[in-house]
Amino acid sequence: MSLLEVKDLKVHFPVRQGLFSRVKGYVRAVDGVSFSIEPGETLGLVGESGCGKTTLGRAVIRLIEPTAGSVVLEGADLRKLRGEALRQKRRTFQMIFQDPVSSLNPRMTVGQIVGEALEIHNLAPDAAARRERVGELLKSVGLDPLHAQRYPHEFSGGQRQRIGIARALAVRPKLIVCDEPISALDVSVQAQIINLLGDLQQQEGVAYLFIAHDLAVVEHISRRVMVMYLGKVVEMGESRSLCRDPKHPYTKALISAVPVVDPKSKRQRMLLPGDVPSPINPPSGCPFHPRCPVAEARCKTEVPELREVTPGRWAACHLAQ
Ligand code: SF4
Repeated sequence: MSLLEVKDLKVHFPVRQGLFSRVKGYVRAVDGVSFSIEPGETLGLVGESGCGKTTLGRAVIRLIEPTAGSVVLEGADLRKLRGEALRQKRRTFQMIFQDPVSSLNPRMTVGQIVGEALEIHNLAPDAAARRERVGELLKSVGLDPLHAQRYPHEFSGGQRQRIGIARALAVRPKLIVCDEPISALDVSVQAQIINLLGDLQQQEGVAYLFIAHDLAVVEHISRRVMVMYLGKVVEMGESRSLCRDPKHPYTKALISAVPVVDPKSKRQRMLLPGDVPSPINPPSGCPFHPRCPVAEARCKTEVPELREVTPGRWAACHLAQ
């Protein structure tokens, strides 16, 4: 059984206008997304900003209420859980946020931040046991247990992200949604955080849904990758195979934008015309057709299904093979 099974998940936000705030349309932020994650696996999720990846990550752990679809974690449909049952299940999944500054309460010490969940979920019998566990957690993310007495503003960006990771690990979750956890950090610190997440996965067996806009980062950390465009998955597959041989024109454009260190490389930068269209009124047919360099007449009217193009490789494009 997969750890997480997401089926046909939709998150549509109503757009209201006028004196009576009538609903004039919907932003289809996530529009029928399905995927699974195995225990201890990392699934990468990439796309430009506004493609719906953060909304999808939040909807999976019910920080945002989905409009339709199912999210089954260890056999339990999270959308059907309420009250105490949902509170109990919340221990199983956590989130690491993009901005380590605003995601930590500045009035709480590091010890209180990391220990809060231990208290909420009764995971330590008393204050002494809680202090000991907080010390262990800080050590596991490369911080000094004595840092528990300090406040978030006393730390660098990378250290704050380590505090956020320690907080997420406190409840021994099975799944962590990592929402662009390194994009606000200095380049020199990014690799350290990626390596830390990899080491912790080895030790704890935790699975990650790793959200990023940079395919190079996702290829490095993930076994499989999912590419999103305008609220839909347009390509999915094993990371190395997808990055070496992308099937969807949008993935090809994303890969061509990744800087290459080798000066002899012949890779051509593929510039996409126009901006990402509005998710309130997405284009007909293939939503990528107004920007697609190889679009055909049928792309304007026929919606391409996400289909298995070659074993283990899925793409939503009429021409993919
Ligand atoms: Fe381009 Fe057509 Fe494929 Fe869409 S279906 S990506 S428009 S070729």
